[in-house]
Amino acid sequence: MVLRAYLDVKELKEILHLDGSTHLNVFFANSSDEDLAGVATWPWDKEALTHLGGIVLNPSFYGTFGHTDTMVHEIGHSLGLYHVFRGISEIESCNDACLETEPSMETGDLCADTNPTPKFKGCHDPEPGNETCGCRHFTHTPFNNYMSYAGETEPPHMFSYLAGQNATVLPLT
Ligand SMILES: [Zn+2]
Repeated sequence: MVLRAYLDVKELKEILHLDGSTHLNVFFANSSDEDLAGVATWPWDKEALTHLGGIVLNPSFYGTFGHTDTMVHEIGHSLGLYHVFRGISEIESCNDACLETEPSMETGDLCADTNPTPKFKGCHDPEPGNETCGCRHFTHTPFNNYMSYAGETEPPHMFSYLAGQNATVLPLT
């Protein structure tokens, strides 16, 4: 017996026990981390295709200004896509093997058609001066990509996935 006024996400998933092997389940749950719009299990997580897998969206953000694409973004993660800024802003150090200095299938987000970019919320290239591991200018950055963070503070542009990301998506069978 749970003597609390709330369930945590794992408890909710256990109670609902929805089939995760044939469906991508989307749960709505308020988050104690108020900035968190959504989370997803990676396809390689051991619980990904079980009732504990799927996507959790924060209803306080869902569909609100700047968050209209959160579900698409989280579906991208659940299919194996990384953030487009992984190779610049999610590396441990400048010696990190994932550092992406040019578009590559082997570093960063593992997609060769998304140019390296730092984490940036604007719907345009970041201004020069974002010095990151020797990369000073970031041009033709994929700010209009679903796997960017752009559009959170500005009206979203036309958001899209690119061919390399479509090829990266893991088959779920
Ligand atoms: Zn994300």
